[in-house]
Amino acid sequence: MKYISKSFFIEGVKVRNLAKNFKTPIYCYSYKKLKENINNFKKNFKSLNPLVCFAVKANANLKLLKEIKKFGLGADVVSLGELTKALKAGINPKKIVFSGVGKTSEELRFAIDKKILLINAESKSEILEIEKIARGKRRSVNIGIRLNPNTDAKTLSQISTGKKQDKFGVSEKYFLELVKYVKNSQFIKLKCISVHIGSQILNHQPFEKMLKVVDGVIKKSNYKFEFIDLGGGMGISYSKRVKNLNYKKYLAAIKKILKKHTAKIIFEPGRSIVGNTAILVSKVIYIKQGSNKNFIILDAAMNDLMRPALYGAKHQILPENKIKTSSKKTYEFVGPICESTDSFLTVKKFQKLNEKDLIIISDVGAYGMSLSSNYNVRLKPAEILIKGRKINIIKKRQKLEDLI
Ligand SMILES: *Cc1c(COP(=O)(O)O)cnc(C)c1O
Repeated sequence: MKYISKSFFIEGVKVRNLAKNFKTPIYCYSYKKLKENINNFKKNFKSLNPLVCFAVKANANLKLLKEIKKFGLGADVVSLGELTKALKAGINPKKIVFSGVGKTSEELRFAIDKKILLINAESKSEILEIEKIARGKRRSVNIGIRLNPNTDAKTLSQISTGKKQDKFGVSEKYFLELVKYVKNSQFIKLKCISVHIGSQILNHQPFEKMLKVVDGVIKKSNYKFEFIDLGGGMGISYSKRVKNLNYKKYLAAIKKILKKHTAKIIFEPGRSIVGNTAILVSKVIYIKQGSNKNFIILDAAMNDLMRPALYGAKHQILPENKIKTSSKKTYEFVGPICESTDSFLTVKKFQKLNEKDLIIISDVGAYGMSLSSNYNVRLKPAEILIKGRKINIIKKRQKLEDLI
């Protein structure tokens, strides 16, 4: 993704042509970036030979899941819908883990029937439900238990999941009780201890703290876990000033605990696999003068990309067509939706824009399309995958008939 003589390109394709042919707003993904991310992730943790389960909630596009599957990744799913999609993408059930605090009986039955690798349980009630279903089917079911390590992930509070006030996992004390209970169960096999402390974590220290807690709990439980599932959460850079997570330091901390407890490591990365693979292309509908800034009213809105409205996330905005100009403006980029939170970003010193110009919203591959909605009865955008010069529509734009 770069400018070639002032025009923005995604691999070998000019974004302006995509906008012309497929209209806006539109999500455009780069296959090359996806491949790079997966290969980098694998390379960073090669010495562990981990099972890498892509967190489907970051991006549930079926065609993308099929591409991700081709690199040998499994899936981390959190609903019947995601599990069905992962299976439809051809992902081996033996590479699928099921997370979430509120799996229904129907979801558990389906997962058990499909013989997935692990159900990561998050409460005693859920374990009892799994046991009941397993007994009924006369089957033995493999589970993990999610520990809440009471570790501050030092990320946005809205995407923090590992502190004791968060709904996820069970406390250390409760974890140890559950291990004792499951040990005596005829129908449940405890295979895994799992943790996931949050998302967009840029500093390795929270991971180190989390691992210390895991280490202590394994020791106290005196139980041999076949898997240690460390979840996802690896942060990415959304701005030039911010560095990615230091994988070497994270890896070193993992190796330290594996010296004491040999187990197969599972990772559940979402954002780090797809976050920087996509842009959202949008057109300027109107420019409106405000009292101290101009509003750039786009044809994309919070229903297309929810992260800024939902947790104040900042996605860089770039002009599609770079011009040399000394005329710089302060702009607030907003959508047409009737909510004041329908605002993407305020930028100082942006090149002067005109109505009908195109702009690029960066790094929207994770929690972009997957969080989109039909709010204001707006149609969900199309998604396009670019591979070199090849253009593949991986999701058609919704039609009004789909909604009415
Ligand atoms: C959301 C989630 C992930 C993925 O998190 P990323 O920050 O996208 O890597 C992994 N595991 C669980 C249990 C999750 O809830």
